[in-house]
Amino acid sequence: MNAEIQALGVYRADPSLKGKLRRRLVRLAHRRPAERRPDRPMVTFAFDDTPASAVRRGAPILEARGVRGAYYFCAGLADEDGHMGRYASCEDMQRTAEAGHEIGCHTYSHLDCGQAPAAMIADDLELNAALLSDWGVSHSLETFAYPYGDVGFAAKQEAAQRFVLSRALHHGVIEPGVDLNQAPAIGVEGQDGEAIARLWLDKAKEKRAWVILFTHGVEDAASPFGTSADTLARLVDDAQTMGFDVVSAAEGAARVGPAGLRSPAFGAPALESPALRDAA
Ligand SMILES: [Zn+2]
Repeated sequence: MNAEIQALGVYRADPSLKGKLRRRLVRLAHRRPAERRPDRPMVTFAFDDTPASAVRRGAPILEARGVRGAYYFCAGLADEDGHMGRYASCEDMQRTAEAGHEIGCHTYSHLDCGQAPAAMIADDLELNAALLSDWGVSHSLETFAYPYGDVGFAAKQEAAQRFVLSRALHHGVIEPGVDLNQAPAIGVEGQDGEAIARLWLDKAKEKRAWVILFTHGVEDAASPFGTSADTLARLVDDAQTMGFDVVSAAEGAARVGPAGLRSPAFGAPALESPALRDAA
């Protein structure tokens, strides 16, 4: 396990002015604007990294309500211990996929894509896809979440070629004109997480737009990196009462994106290169 993964709890994307400017400039490049407004407001419940609690406690909450979530797995975190408890094991990931949840990509090593070179990003994405495929978790990863929400030009170009939607961390709803290659999302974390999520559900309903709510773990109580099981249940119930369609990220992108938007052929490569084999 590399140092970056161990430091996951405290690491932050480049907080400097230069970093902030880069993220703003990147918003202008490699855009794929949403083109359509959905018939009904939409919400996606997403889980990043992903702690086992998001699978073991979060997934049943969604399934009991007849909906599914989007799980952004890093194969390099599988069964490791982290600041949010143990990460999902291979078996957790397999169960998540079998239950019909979307499996998304979050890089293999939780790579900061803000400044990494294109080749390193491509290798990391390929390795994640290869391992998740090898483990029988997913043979096609259609959507992506940028680790730490950081985005560089190279990462955005790579992601645009591989995924129908790539999610960053700035707040907003998705409506026509909003970039699907650097999409906004709302973190449901910390003590204010539920209130902030409700605010954005209201905005999405008012605009008949799509909002992506994400968290990491699902525990008894909210934490800086997770939500409580009660909050998750309330948000799903309320979204359904408000008339939202609860969709996967891939389904959301298909409904609002350019007509015919499909994930580019991103078949998981076979584990034939020495680098992939060694990492496996
Ligand atoms: Zn992450």
